[in-house]
Amino acid sequence: MLGELYSAAFTAPAFNWLCSPAVTELETIVLDWLARILHLPDCFLSEGEGGGVMQGSASEAVVTVMVAARERYLNTASEGLSGKEKEDKIAHTRSRLIALGTEESHSRVAKAALIAGVRYQSIPTHLSDNLALTGSSLLSTLESCTRQSLLPFFLSTTLGTTATCATDRFAEIAHVAKLSPNLWLHIDAAYAGAALLLPQYSHLTFPFSSFDSFNMNMHKWLLTNFDASILFVRARKSLTSALSITPSYLRNTYSDSGLVTDYRDWQIPLGRRFRALKIWFVMRTYGVNGLKGHVSRHIALGETFASWIRERSDLFTIIAPPAYALTVFTVSLPPKTHIAPPAPSEPAITDGLSPPLLHPQLPSLSSSALEQTNHLTQTVYERINAAGEIWLTSSVVKGIYAIRVVSANERTDEGHLRRAFEIIVAETESLLKEQRRGDGE
Ligand SMILES: *Cc1c(COP(=O)(O)O)cnc(C)c1O
Repeated sequence: MLGELYSAAFTAPAFNWLCSPAVTELETIVLDWLARILHLPDCFLSEGEGGGVMQGSASEAVVTVMVAARERYLNTASEGLSGKEKEDKIAHTRSRLIALGTEESHSRVAKAALIAGVRYQSIPTHLSDNLALTGSSLLSTLESCTRQSLLPFFLSTTLGTTATCATDRFAEIAHVAKLSPNLWLHIDAAYAGAALLLPQYSHLTFPFSSFDSFNMNMHKWLLTNFDASILFVRARKSLTSALSITPSYLRNTYSDSGLVTDYRDWQIPLGRRFRALKIWFVMRTYGVNGLKGHVSRHIALGETFASWIRERSDLFTIIAPPAYALTVFTVSLPPKTHIAPPAPSEPAITDGLSPPLLHPQLPSLSSSALEQTNHLTQTVYERINAAGEIWLTSSVVKGIYAIRVVSANERTDEGHLRRAFEIIVAETESLLKEQRRGDGE
């Protein structure tokens, strides 16, 4: 049934839209297509009160929605007041606003708070929760804000964090957030949002109808040239009432009628390029199935890579569940250096997506053992990058230095990954051999 709907959308006579000067209309149409194929709830479609808008980057999108959230909060707080009384109420309330993210949020959320001129706090996450934001952590942060007379007005959650591709627990978050009705809930899915094309991830979007905004970058994993960051909002009015200032030189009878979409009021800049055209080309060229095949091929490659790393548990430790084609691992310490047997940890409740943490012993390493494994991992990483055949990226998660391998490049195939794996194994084995030689002396 839904499949029919999508294919109908994709075989519609789109050619007519291209011939008309309807630049705005094409953007509205292709973004509705995108919302549908990503299985977003209907509240994000333009037919209702929501809709999508193209932004330059996820960074710009988060500033935009944070400002909209701030204005919505201040308007509600000063409702019924006027004149100086209203101004004072707004100024006082603004000084107590606080935006929230998590320790795994992209640095752009803190930067957005800096730009928006509000306080920012990141909520702790834990390896035992696979680095996801949980409802209970959110609840205790909200309570602590209340105790300090701070007013949380915005929360950025993540689907696919940058360091490990962790996914926050959206259903729990939505449930807890009901206690703060004016808290704007944002989903940053800049990279991994593309995976929502696949039916096995669509259950993740069920709670999204309780969220205010969702952002993903087509330019990261969906075959589109930079820049194509797509922002969906549940209530476009919350954007336009925050960002619309209409001087006389921008007025015309159509805009005044309130019946047209003026995307200038959904974003920071006034001018904008015809970026919807490239989305149209990508969608019409690959089709929904082509895009799905592209993403699922990368995820399968990522799983293959993770399985090779797991097979060499004598050399490597995976620190968070591999997800969305990303595997994050460290060089393991030789077994004798492990201090205590792994502390029994609570089985992690996941979104049904990821197996629980594979190696809970890592966080219980003594600090000197952690230093040692960090040193080994960083040395392997630096030597491989210095050799220059492949380039790895790294990240520090909860004090653990880790190597990241992602298989989401359009042209990556199993041969590339196999070669990368061989290089990583060879470099690690030779480093460990050196160490043993050193120890023996
Ligand atoms: C890449 C990324 C960003 C930043 O994206 P820009 O479009 O470069 O601003 C933000 N959040 C996440 C989760 C990302 O993966």
